[in-house]
Amino acid sequence: MTVPTLLCVHPHPDDESIACGGLLASTVAAGRRAVVVTCTGGEEGENLAGIDLGADDLVTHRRRELADALAALGVTEHEYLGYRDSGMVGSPTNHHPDSFHGADIEEAAGRLAAVVRRVRPHVVVSDDATGTYGHPDHVKAHHVTVRAVALAADPRADVPGEPWRVVKRYVNVIGRSRLAAMHHALIDAGLASPFGDDDVAAADLPFGVDDASITAHLDIADWLPRKRAAMAAHRSQIGEDSFFLNVPPAIASTAFAVEQFVLEDGAAAGDLPETDLFAGITAAEAHPAAG
Ligand SMILES: [Zn+2]
Repeated sequence: MTVPTLLCVHPHPDDESIACGGLLASTVAAGRRAVVVTCTGGEEGENLAGIDLGADDLVTHRRRELADALAALGVTEHEYLGYRDSGMVGSPTNHHPDSFHGADIEEAAGRLAAVVRRVRPHVVVSDDATGTYGHPDHVKAHHVTVRAVALAADPRADVPGEPWRVVKRYVNVIGRSRLAAMHHALIDAGLASPFGDDDVAAADLPFGVDDASITAHLDIADWLPRKRAAMAAHRSQIGEDSFFLNVPPAIASTAFAVEQFVLEDGAAAGDLPETDLFAGITAAEAHPAAG
């Protein structure tokens, strides 16, 4: 019997834990299979926490952090896509010859399609087309994933492996009301908000999607400790004073205890919003061929 399988595609080490930590932990705990692809090594990240790297460079260190994070989530299968972190919008590193941002989309999608054919996931998750907060690698990860899913299913595509049709493709998103609730809760608690000190309205937040567009709400309250442990494993990127880690439990249980997704490809099972990305997928749906 084929095990229902999830493939999460993330641009940098730490994105898997921040965006999909609860999804990944709950998938593994349910006896399903979860595989993470990280597109870059996170070369342009900074050593935000100022930790002592010893003899390691940051990339080597981040590989270890990622391994620790995946272990915290229970994920045992991981692959790098092999590109270089592009840096933030406008950074000269966008133009590095190995940058993910500058990568040929067909070439990058071909690499990922080969992974899809090998892993044979029923559910695939990536960033949305806005890249969640606009980072060029997050935007790129979306477009590469969309193309890779199409290539993997296309028998004529020049991709190693047997064709594989993904049943449901989602993007991970943050709804504006959840973002606003988090912002206000942080301010009320006297903590720094990433959106400043203002009483900013949900509509004025710099990112976040319309709540009405969200098709799946995953309750990850039971998995918050694992998600937080995974985020904490990325010590160089998510310092101890980060709002991700130091929010009071009451805020964590509301703002962070849900992960939200939009189904972009495939059919939802039953009424929206879904509460399980595998809804409607049974082992019998694990069809090996595409047409
Ligand atoms: Zn990232």
